[in-house]
Amino acid sequence: MKQGTLVILSGFSGSGKGTLVHRLLEKYPDEYCLSVSATTRSPREGEVDGKDYFFKTNEEFERMIVNGELLEHAGYVNHYYGTPKEWVMEQLAQSKNVILEIEMQGAMAVREKFPEALLLFVTPPSAEELKARLIGRNTETEDVIMSRLARASEEADGCDAYDYLIVNDSIEESVTLIHSLISMQTYRMSRQQELIREIRNDLIDLAKGVSK
Ligand code: 5GP
Repeated sequence: MKQGTLVILSGFSGSGKGTLVHRLLEKYPDEYCLSVSATTRSPREGEVDGKDYFFKTNEEFERMIVNGELLEHAGYVNHYYGTPKEWVMEQLAQSKNVILEIEMQGAMAVREKFPEALLLFVTPPSAEELKARLIGRNTETEDVIMSRLARASEEADGCDAYDYLIVNDSIEESVTLIHSLISMQTYRMSRQQELIREIRNDLIDLAKGVSK
């Protein structure tokens, strides 16, 4: 069975990446699944353990690291975040495309282990739009908005390491684009090695006059 594609979706805070992922899953439920991360941060109102995150204590998280249960992990604003490995590997083996919605440090660690992973970075059309969205959410104080904008400017430096930039102007258009990029990934030469090998061997046999 063909392995699914591992897709990393990162983006500035306020880029709308969460909305894009949920729309993608809604539109193509049979093709995609979203990895649920482990974290040591506290649940926000409405967040459900096992659905939004696996909420862990520091000790539990550190044990997961030691036991090799995480595909990657990173520190973000005083907390650990990490991707449970086993579930991701199972889904890929079942030909599902697995989405990891993770920050840049974790994305780079996954790329090291999975050079075949597709790395997408989401941005709003402009810095002004990003600020307007952060203010419009009405969930953060001005200080937090300013530090998130500062963090975004740092992240802009790391964007080069990603494969594609998604300028999220319209949700539907961005979702269509993301779906196309992921679909195209399966046609990469590096993913077709088995088929190529088979055709090559058959050609050798044919050239020798061996009938199958
Ligand atoms: P939040 O606390 O707002 O849910 O997430 C904070 C940041 O951590 C976001 O950029 C989010 O994408 C990232 N994140 C969530 N889960 C993981 C994970 O498993 N690994 C890494 N490296 N980052 C994560």
